[in-house]
Parts: sequence; C-alpha cells; structure tokens
Amino acid sequence: MASVELHEVRKAFGALEVIHGVSLAIEDGEFVALVGPSGCGKSTLLRMIAGLEDISGGDIIIDNAVVNDLTPRERNIAMVFQSYALYPHMTVAENMGFNLRLSGTPKAAIAERVNEAARMLDLVPLMERKPAQLSGGQRQRVAMGRAIVRNPAVFLFDEPLSNLDAKLRVQMRSEIKTLHQKVKTTSIYVTHDQIEAMTLADRIVVLNQGRVEQQGTPMELYKNPANLFVAAFIGSPA
Ligand code: ADP
Ligand code: MG
Repeated sequence: MASVELHEVRKAFGALEVIHGVSLAIEDGEFVALVGPSGCGKSTLLRMIAGLEDISGGDIIIDNAVVNDLTPRERNIAMVFQSYALYPHMTVAENMGFNLRLSGTPKAAIAERVNEAARMLDLVPLMERKPAQLSGGQRQRVAMGRAIVRNPAVFLFDEPLSNLDAKLRVQMRSEIKTLHQKVKTTSIYVTHDQIEAMTLADRIVVLNQGRVEQQGTPMELYKNPANLFVAAFIGSPA
C-alpha cells in the first residue's frame, strides 16, 4: 500500500496542454474515484501516475518519493482497463500467474498467490478454463486477479466495467468494493458513472477540462456541490 501525491502535474501533447496543474493527495488505503466528462483528461492522468505517459511538469510522489523518472514496473502499480487483454491460449491460472513468472517468482510462490487471489475473486472452479470459456464478468475478475497477484502498492482502474451489461456492472461494483475492504490497496478508480463513484469511493475528485473542479466525500459533493457543473455531474437536487 502507498500514498499517492500529485503536485501541479501538467501534460501537453505537442502545443496543446490537456492537464493544467493538477494537485491531489491520496492517503494510503484510500479509494478515490476520478470522475468527469469524456475528454477531460482522466485516462491521461492515470497513465501518468502509472508511468505509461511522461509528465510535462510537476511531480508524482508515491510513498513520499518522487517517481517521475521510474518505469511502470518500478512504481509497483497495477492498472485494470476495460479491455481485459487476457492471453487466449493460456488458462485462467496461467493468465493470473504470467506477470509473476516474468519477474522470476518461484513456481510454488506463484501457485500460492494465484490460489489466494482465486479464492478472493471466486475463480477457484474456473482455473483450468481458457478465456473463451468465460463470461465477460468472469474475464474481468481474471484481469483483476492478474493485477492482485502482483501485490501492487496502488491499483489504477480505467472504467473497468464499461463494457459490461447493467446487471453485471452492479454485481462487479460490489465485488470491487468487497475486494478493497479485504486488501485495502490504495485505489484510483476512473469512471463516468456517478452511481459507481458514489457507492465505491471514500472520496470523489471531479475533473473538468484538465483541472480539479472539486473534491470531497460522496456526501459532501452531493450536498454542497461547488458549482452547477459538479451538481449536474453528481446528480445533486437543483
Ligand atoms: P478521458 O479519459 O477523460 O476521456 P483523455 O485523458 O483520454 O480523457 O484525453 C484528454 C485529452 O487529451 C483529450 O482532449 C484527448 O483528445 C487528448 N489526448 C489524449 N491522448 C492523446 C495523445 N496521445 N495525443 C494527443 N492528444 C491526446
Ligand atoms: Mg478515458
């Protein structure tokens, strides 16, 4: 687990700046939802935290150390996307253990961590299946399992449920909540679904055109939206 701080983080693509000095302080073990309309910079911000995208200015600080120049692997961050990108020729167990195998973890330790994650995510009966033999929700659970076995310091989620149907989304939402209660890993969860943000997050950060519009607990934002933009987004009564 780890704290995550952003100090005046900026991002420009060519001449166009899309993140205009974002500062955030996320506590160890906190679950933060990052919400905002399409194109406001949510994915770019996550990719910069993960180290998949260079920053144009400012600092990203994990557990009190500036990580601007560290690779994604060195940052010990796991990212879960909406496209699960499982390896089709591998079983569920092999998919979940793949990253550990790459990093040279001994076989017995891999098996132990994969089994523990499988129990947490109710995947035990599915371990010998291939991805094609799984439902969408099961595949998403495998993708989460693959992230968990690495025991990351931070979880980043980029709209992980947006490809699922409404019923499955509700179910997976509660599974993610249960999972966080078990592992308590610091999580930043991007969504454009305000209900998802309200039910999952300790704190919601509202992003608009590359700037933080407001942040607070779900109840604070609902009761005291700073402006009409936040009110409309959170669904506060007018
Ligand atoms: P969100 O995830 O909130 O929908 P993004 O972070 O994907 O938003 O994008 C934020 C802005 O940055 C958008 O205007 C998008 O067009 C722009 N952008 C994202 N990635 C690139 C890129 N590789 N090159 C140029 N512009 C980009
Ligand atoms: Mg996005």
